[in-house]
Amino acid sequence: MLSTTWTRFASLTTLAIAAAILTGCGTADSGSVQTSDATAATTVDDGGWWCVEHGVPEEECALCDPSLVAKFKEAGDWCEEHNRPESQCFLCNPKRFEKFAARYEAKFGVQPPKPEESSMR
Ligand SMILES: [Zn+2]
Ligand SMILES: [Zn+2]
Repeated sequence: MLSTTWTRFASLTTLAIAAAILTGCGTADSGSVQTSDATAATTVDDGGWWCVEHGVPEEECALCDPSLVAKFKEAGDWCEEHNRPESQCFLCNPKRFEKFAARYEAKFGVQPPKPEESSMR
């Protein structure tokens, strides 16, 4: 009699523990996945690829890297009026920013931060 009661108690306890572990694991997994998804959608780590200030990729930003200036001038891609590559001169044509924004979006899946007001004016 005693052994029967103990066996039932033991198997019920085992079931309860197993259920708790399964439920706990499931909740933890789906919770962590949702958290990382939400983070990816709101913040993008471009690793310094994008020049936020001028709205172009950093490696092509002649305003940040003066060593690029000669290359642009040689190619005839230069806006004398605004002292920057014509192809990056959003002052002469704000639509040029869309081309760079599309490259950013293709890379990171979101719109890039807008360049600062001073470089758009
Ligand atoms: Zn820059
Ligand atoms: Zn210009």
